[in-house]
Amino acid sequence: MTGRNDILLITMLDGVPVSHFKLSEFENAEGLAMVHAETLRSLEEVRRDLGAFYGETVQVIITDAVRTRADLERLAACYGWTDEGGRVARQSRHLAGFGGIAVDLKARMARTGKAVPQKTLGMVCRRYFDWVKDDYADGHVHADNRNAAR
Ligand SMILES: [Zn+2]
Repeated sequence: MTGRNDILLITMLDGVPVSHFKLSEFENAEGLAMVHAETLRSLEEVRRDLGAFYGETVQVIITDAVRTRADLERLAACYGWTDEGGRVARQSRHLAGFGGIAVDLKARMARTGKAVPQKTLGMVCRRYFDWVKDDYADGHVHADNRNAAR
């Protein structure tokens, strides 16, 4: 949908304003969008460090962010609940009630499109997020700032 959540998000990094993410990247299918200030800053820090690590621009791609209870039920229908051996947590930090602290992400080189390995992305995410999981079969990394949740 053109225009919906088409808003650049700005945060301060090393005393300088940076802006590499749009609100629309954090929306669910219905357009509910939410991101915690600490999570936006963590994402910019991860992007900066990956760029320094590779010596070229790296794009951080949000694959999933805020979820409603209905979103979670749909996911659990596919992947199962963690307490039943699946991979969807009933108290997922993606739930809107946590304030936009969680993201699923991937990263790639801007120039070549080559993917950043999951474990490399996970390692850098651990510097700036409270909790990171980087062993999903599809290659994404989950990161959240659960200590910032109110
Ligand atoms: Zn996740």
